[in-house]
Amino acid sequence: MKTFNELNLVAPVQRALANANYSVPTPIQAQTIPDALQGRDILGSAQTGTGKTAAFALPVLNRLGQRNEKVERNRPLALVLAPTRELAIQIERSFATYGKGLRLRQALVYGGVSQVRQVRMLDRGAHIVVATPGRLLDLMNQGFIDLSRLEILVLDEVDRMLDMGFLPDLKRIISHLPARRQSLFFSATLPPKIVELADGLLRNPVRVNIAPESPCVERIDQQIVFVERSGKMNLLREIVQKDPASRVMVFTRTKRGANAVAQQLERGGVRAVAIHGDKSQHARQKALAAFGRNHVQVLVATDVASRGIDIDGVSHVVNYDLPVDPECYVHRIGRTGRAGDEGTAVSFCSEAERRELYAIERFIGQSLTGGQTPPPSVRSSSQRPRRSYSRAAGPRGAGRRSGYSGGGSSNPSKRKRRPGKYARQRG
Ligand code: AMP
Repeated sequence: MKTFNELNLVAPVQRALANANYSVPTPIQAQTIPDALQGRDILGSAQTGTGKTAAFALPVLNRLGQRNEKVERNRPLALVLAPTRELAIQIERSFATYGKGLRLRQALVYGGVSQVRQVRMLDRGAHIVVATPGRLLDLMNQGFIDLSRLEILVLDEVDRMLDMGFLPDLKRIISHLPARRQSLFFSATLPPKIVELADGLLRNPVRVNIAPESPCVERIDQQIVFVERSGKMNLLREIVQKDPASRVMVFTRTKRGANAVAQQLERGGVRAVAIHGDKSQHARQKALAAFGRNHVQVLVATDVASRGIDIDGVSHVVNYDLPVDPECYVHRIGRTGRAGDEGTAVSFCSEAERRELYAIERFIGQSLTGGQTPPPSVRSSSQRPRRSYSRAAGPRGAGRRSGYSGGGSSNPSKRKRRPGKYARQRG
């Protein structure tokens, strides 16, 4: 499949795709949509930002749109489960965009807010329900959702759902579904426990694995900056202020860290806002909207927020702290370089974080430092990377305040083209 036109989708969906300027399907779309349209089950693995949402939304919309029939109250025909509220909201928005012009009703169901509106939408009858598992179960238990008519089940970011401990909820939900249904599972990674879950739930699925070294990540210029903790804020300010038009997502390890970074940026005159699990749903939405509309330049987030956020035009991702879980690195940097754009991911690495850096390099199967990160256990003083730390004047760091040495890009062509984008002048 080379274009969406070949798919014979219902006319309103074709129009919606044309309006969104989608002409060429992404690899995950090209390899799953034709089979999903035939009614096959799918087990798809692809990173965030590769067009997974349309890969499941288009077959669902096409199937229900073709029939164009009324739906019974509280008895949805399609259910999409996602791990976080933010992702659920985005998925619902995508369904609304791709399904504009179809007479299908949707309901969005997630926790942390009053259920009144959600119950009302379900009572009116919704063809498609997009939900997080906890609140969905709550509403099922209260009798507001009956899944006996369900035709299509979509699980998005299955790996994340399992990481977040949703497996028992998922099993309970799935036990209420009719055996005859179409199931579409998507996950960024496919560890054995997910394959096992899928084996029990999918019927002869089409398996599609879009390798992590997909063009999406190749478009991201990945840079490592060796800098001690005390130097990180100055370096971040430098990156942000260098280009006032940049839109920067910063990741910290802790919620407190996220708040502190946002506050320090604000104090320095940079518009910044933090989102993490301790913020109310309203505050999170407000922050995302402010960032989306360019009212703030920097969004500081913890990993909970790193998945599923789809904001166009994020030019830089900064890993203020390296993630402990190397998989999170891939999810974090996937916030930039989306939908054909180029992006830059700058990771700050302090002496204490070298272990994490090494784990990331092993996980992605690629050196981010030109082979200068030996495993922590075998490093001796004579093998130390030649890069400079802010507190240790290395050979190239002499006379320089900061650790950004202008290198560390994993992409050689970019390294040549943009030497030392944030490098300080030699003093
Ligand atoms: P997703 O992985 O579904 O979150 O999609 C990532 C981004 O790619 C979103 O901004 C989508 O609107 C965009 N996108 C998805 N499919 C296509 C396509 N075929 N052509 C252009 N943009 C797309």
